[in-house]
Amino acid sequence: MRETDLMIIGAGPAGCSAAIYAVRSGVKTLMAGGAMPGGQLLQTNDLENYAGFENPVGGFELMSAMHKQCKRLGVEILTDENVKIEGEQSPFLLTASNGEQYKAAAVIIAAGASARWLGAPGEEKLKGHGVSACATCDGFFFRGKEVVVVGGGNTAFEDALFLSQFCPKVTLVHRREGFRADAVTIEKVKNTPNIFMMLNCVVEEVLGEEKVTAAVLRNVQTQEKTTLPCDGIFVAVGAVPQTAWLKGSAVELTESGLIKVDTHQRTNIDGIFAAGDCTEPEFRQAIVAADSGAKAGIAAASFVNLHR
Ligand SMILES: Cc1cc2nc3c(=O)[nH]c(=O)nc-3n(C[C@H](O)[C@H](O)[C@H](O)COP(=O)(O)OP(=O)(O)OC[C@H]3O[C@@H](n4cnc5c(N)ncnc54)[C@H](O)[C@@H]3O)c2cc1C
Repeated sequence: MRETDLMIIGAGPAGCSAAIYAVRSGVKTLMAGGAMPGGQLLQTNDLENYAGFENPVGGFELMSAMHKQCKRLGVEILTDENVKIEGEQSPFLLTASNGEQYKAAAVIIAAGASARWLGAPGEEKLKGHGVSACATCDGFFFRGKEVVVVGGGNTAFEDALFLSQFCPKVTLVHRREGFRADAVTIEKVKNTPNIFMMLNCVVEEVLGEEKVTAAVLRNVQTQEKTTLPCDGIFVAVGAVPQTAWLKGSAVELTESGLIKVDTHQRTNIDGIFAAGDCTEPEFRQAIVAADSGAKAGIAAASFVNLHR
């Protein structure tokens, strides 16, 4: 069994940022990120909203720069997957699915999230070619194009408003007539002339060969199908925090599976911290994950140094 001061679970922006701060505080840091460390950003070609880059930066490029920075500072990046925490008191025992075991004084969980998708035929093939789960990330590439937003909560409504600023036509598709979005945002959407609503409708199929050309909608009441030509489909039906493996553990989760943290990214267990999308109810962005990762790194390093 290997011993370390700090084990970070997840090597996305939150994990890397936490590792940078912790290792620079003199804390021996291991970071487990799975066979392809890097997290969700590996799925995107161009980021235009991560501060510090004049031109768009590739997700792979950004994550490999973060990993190189971590390694230069002395962080060891492990390819271990499905790392689990045992025990409720520091030092914690951690086991990976390959059987490796670690003992760590502190743990930061930076396990991320994954978008909830529709599961409609054509969706998987056209992800990154018109199908997106992040209007903030990809919307800008759809300037002057007609797009569809799917969902009925605040994210969907805010995505529709955001896209309506540079897309001539935005169609909001929702499976019911009632919305979960707040009244003010709903009113704004209703008053935006280039946002149209298709209610009681679900996306039955995504059409297109190389890129999205249309969405086939089905009215859930009449079963009538409509083909709606569009260039992009933004799926805003929520995200799933990667925390299923913590269910039944002592780490407290919210109803939606997010890890509960305080302003210092502390969980309810002394010595276990969490950061990034697995704690974030709303602003799932790389820079936000890096921000909470930095806080977790600083807080975990203080914990380790205090308990030496
Ligand atoms: C297609 C797409 C495009 C995006 N574009 C942008 C953009 O343009 N700008 C922007 O700011 N944001 C963008 N985002 C959002 C951004 O990627 C996330 O907000 C950010 O990656 C969250 O970072 P994180 O470190 O919290 O989690 P993640 O990036 O999800 O990383 C978590 C890592 O932890 C690993 N992990 C989980 N559990 C375990 C375990 N038990 N053991 C070991 N490893 C584990 C996961 O495999 C994953 O590699 C995009 C997201 C997607 C999906």
